[in-house]
Amino acid sequence: MPVPVVPHSEVDVLIIGAGPAGLMCANALANAKVNVRVIDKRAARVAAGQADGLSPRTIEVFQSYGIAERLLKESVQVHQAAFYNPSPSGGIELTSRTQDVVAPSARYPFECALHQGAIQAIFIDSMKPLGVEVEWSTLPTSIEICKDEHVLMDPASHPVRVVLQKLNAPEGQLQEEIVHAKYVVGADGAHSWVRKQFDITMDGEQSDFIWGVMDMVPDTDFPDVRNKCLMHSNNGSILLVPREQDRLRVYVQLENKDIIDPATGRVDKDRMGPDEMLEVARKSFSPYKISPTTGFLWWTLYIIGQRVASQFSVKNRVLIVGDACHTHSPKAGQGMNAGVSDAHNLAWKIALVVRGWADLSLLSTYESERRKFALDLIVFDKMYSTLFSGKPLSQENSHGVAPEHFLEIFKQFGGFTSGIGVHYDPSVATLDKNQELASGVVIGERFPPYKFIRAADAWPFEIQDLLPADFRFKLLVFTGDFSEPLQQARVESMVATMQKPESFLNRYATSSKGAENSRFDIITISKGRKEGFNFLQFPMLLRSHWSKVFIDDIDVTGSFGGKGYSYYGVGDEGAIVAVRPDGYVGAIAPLDHVEDLDAYFTSFMTAAV
Ligand SMILES: Cc1cc2nc3c(=O)[nH]c(=O)nc-3n(C[C@H](O)[C@H](O)[C@H](O)COP(=O)(O)OP(=O)(O)OC[C@H]3O[C@@H](n4cnc5c(N)ncnc54)[C@H](O)[C@@H]3O)c2cc1C
Repeated sequence: MPVPVVPHSEVDVLIIGAGPAGLMCANALANAKVNVRVIDKRAARVAAGQADGLSPRTIEVFQSYGIAERLLKESVQVHQAAFYNPSPSGGIELTSRTQDVVAPSARYPFECALHQGAIQAIFIDSMKPLGVEVEWSTLPTSIEICKDEHVLMDPASHPVRVVLQKLNAPEGQLQEEIVHAKYVVGADGAHSWVRKQFDITMDGEQSDFIWGVMDMVPDTDFPDVRNKCLMHSNNGSILLVPREQDRLRVYVQLENKDIIDPATGRVDKDRMGPDEMLEVARKSFSPYKISPTTGFLWWTLYIIGQRVASQFSVKNRVLIVGDACHTHSPKAGQGMNAGVSDAHNLAWKIALVVRGWADLSLLSTYESERRKFALDLIVFDKMYSTLFSGKPLSQENSHGVAPEHFLEIFKQFGGFTSGIGVHYDPSVATLDKNQELASGVVIGERFPPYKFIRAADAWPFEIQDLLPADFRFKLLVFTGDFSEPLQQARVESMVATMQKPESFLNRYATSSKGAENSRFDIITISKGRKEGFNFLQFPMLLRSHWSKVFIDDIDVTGSFGGKGYSYYGVGDEGAIVAVRPDGYVGAIAPLDHVEDLDAYFTSFMTAAV
């Protein structure tokens, strides 16, 4: 009998793991028309439980891919947080209520809560029309990277060899396939197989806190059941997160002795089920009552590990994202958000390299940007979860957690937990220069939202909607007041410089292949009043289409707008802001020294072929 031949195939990007991080990456690459496959050993997506909170920045990211509308429709919005502490008469009492998200520039100043499976479905449905579907029941059994440096440096090579096994192949059919990939993304969760194949260590430690989690539709007399609640009681701490369809997520702090098997030192799920967890919760919850109306919809228990992978990349050819490279407590709601943001940061870089638009070295900024974020997250998480899990301040416990201190930390770190304040340090992807020209637009941070009026028709637009994640750099040209002769001369000179053959616009132009393939999108934002403004006065470069010119003016109803220049800290002399495809500010240049952008783009872009 002939021996069956194992099929070989090639792909640009193979993603291992279809959790939120892997699916985010797959969807982003599918949008960028990158040839991508995504596999998962599970038979189907998560049906219930696991992560459920999306931060304001993650909602902005969803918006940039056009999938926020569905998220906002299906999820619940969490606007308010309530803090409970021990009452002098026993049990707990309300101490304060505050805004759930303390991040003044957030476009969506709230969190969204929705179960992980529903979030995964949003990605799956978004990429299906783009021809990408998850290959479930598929397991990688070996992975190797070619050792030849010449091959590794060749952008056209497929140096990663992965053997896949189909777990559900019909009997008699071949179960194996050998995939040759340009890049492999390991998105395979906290126990990442990919990470282990390359002996990447997880640095950090296991915390002492064990938490139980359960989802239910509650029957309760508790008045804050539809707010996020952070409770300190003399019996332990509780976190409540309101959820879609009247559901409630309950996190309960547990005692080690009740869960840990002394023989193995590991969490033993047989020692405590949801009924026992609920009993623990009820002790902290007194005088209020709570029980599930239709049983427990999902539950789990776990010890919090606070660890970061020692590297996020192997030769810039295998890259790990999400829980595969950082684990932390769910108290600050970062798990899924951090993974989604990793993938968002990585996807545009891979897309540009695969298209031949950027040098392979751009991928190094994935590790430098996201590993630093993960390290900051662990430091924050240690402090926050220690405060959250700590005993409340009382006469018997003078070192306990004071309610006002916890509230202060909650507010102080709102920028971080909302994802809005994430800052990337200078690198080839962020040029630390000319910050003073736009002081409200921080280099290395996401471009903040504001509304401007489209010059041609006075239609108000949220500027973030002009910055979709379409793998192009957006050049926001703040022209100042073009009716001022000096400013007009400055803008015209800038346009002349940008049109020189040696300018980045020409060196890296790909527009001959159609606008869709252009690497840059120029958006003009002028000072002026809509009543007398003529957008046709601008040089053609600044108005490739009539819809590309905006003015910093109030809308026709007089309700909003008109202060964008001062909000962004841009002076009368104007400025150009280069916004990266992930919505982060990459560089700022003066109009009369646009060559700074040449330096920025030359540091990672490759010339058109
Ligand atoms: C049981 C459990 C309970 C959790 N509970 C909470 C919670 O209560 N609150 C909270 O905020 N977060 C919770 N999390 C964490 C949260 O789910 C993650 O932080 C978040 O989903 C990160 O997404 P990710 O895509 O990086 O990883 P994951 O969501 O873990 O996804 C990884 C994917 O990779 C697949 N995979 C793993 N190994 C392989 C392999 N060898 N080959 C192919 N596929 C593979 C898995 O099947 C999975 O689909 C929980 C996670 C788990 C596993």
